[in-house]
Amino acid sequence: METKKQNGALRVLYLEDSKLDVELLRTILEEAYQLDFTSVDNRQAFEAVLQSKKPLDVILSDYNLPDVDAPTALALAKKYCPDIPFICISGTIGEEKAVDLLKQGAVDYILKDRMARLTSSIDRALNEAEEKRILAEAQEALKQQNKELRIAKQKAEESDHLKSVFLSNMSHEVRTPMNGIVGFSELLIRSDDPIKQEKYVRTIQNSCEQLMHIINSIVDISLIEADQVHVNKTEVELEHIFNYVNSILQEDFERKSVHLKQLEIPENCCELTTDASKLTQILTNLISNGLKFTSQGFVEYGVRRQNGTLHFHVRDTGIGIPEEKHPVIFERFRQVEEGNTRKYGGSGLGLSIAKSFVEALEGQIWLQSKPGEGSTFFFSIPV
Ligand code: ADP
Repeated sequence: METKKQNGALRVLYLEDSKLDVELLRTILEEAYQLDFTSVDNRQAFEAVLQSKKPLDVILSDYNLPDVDAPTALALAKKYCPDIPFICISGTIGEEKAVDLLKQGAVDYILKDRMARLTSSIDRALNEAEEKRILAEAQEALKQQNKELRIAKQKAEESDHLKSVFLSNMSHEVRTPMNGIVGFSELLIRSDDPIKQEKYVRTIQNSCEQLMHIINSIVDISLIEADQVHVNKTEVELEHIFNYVNSILQEDFERKSVHLKQLEIPENCCELTTDASKLTQILTNLISNGLKFTSQGFVEYGVRRQNGTLHFHVRDTGIGIPEEKHPVIFERFRQVEEGNTRKYGGSGLGLSIAKSFVEALEGQIWLQSKPGEGSTFFFSIPV
């Protein structure tokens, strides 16, 4: 294998107190490599270079110097530059010492009267160091990949769990109005009392609306997931939107004796260019959530304009939301209540649809809420 250092100069640190040996070694190396050569002749200077983190490719060391020997030099090299190959260059040191050095981590030792071997020894050391580096990089990449896989697996399991929870919630959410429709249709067929008939028809109508709402949510979330949300902006009057929202929600509020308060629209907010159906749905989702989680008091909503942005709020006097749930409730299928004991039902889709629509209108949505102190949802959209 061609082993000569390919990229740039060979960076050598040589610990040697004999000037003649230093010159000899430098000359041999200069013939084989482009060279960046540093020599030192005592322990302190050697340690200083190691500590300075000067980039090195190989460390060479004599065996015996007045204040340091090769095992100590090797220990220092391993301490400061553990990945740089260390080669001992010595007069006869005896096999035992040489083996000890190799055991301690030196890559080779070369006798001073066999210097012809030096360049091939350095080349081999460089190759091994490069292979080690590549292996370490590959191991690091593998570790990283494993970590990413673990995270992906965790996410997939979590998402799988959420989907199962969603499906079981959904079958409950669909079955309840379906049972209403089937049951009250039968009663309707058998009844001749017009007062009862009207009551049954209203119940059937309510159940149909609930079903319609669920189906619409599923269609919306599918479009969002398929990245198929299209924004259709026109000039709209906010009053029309607010009136429409009030008209579709008023009856639900009356049924629950919760007050729906719409604040007056400021003059500078009356007209805007936006996607009316998305804005309507954002407001409807937030206000009906407000109603759903409020048993007494009110749900208030309004708008103000600041710096070319409309700021909407929907405030309720309901149960509130614990702080640790604030970041997750905008994710699809997520609900504060989990498990079979859910009191409020629902699909866990309303807020994630609202968030996607706000973002499609280039706005932001957030909330302030504490358990027992109600909730305020805010969203802003540029006009
Ligand atoms: P759903 O209401 O169908 O469960 P959403 O996505 O609209 O789905 O809401 C997700 C969850 O956020 C709800 O289940 C509820 O736990 C919480 N939440 C949303 N709005 C309110 C609110 N106004 N007051 C209290 N909790 C709320």
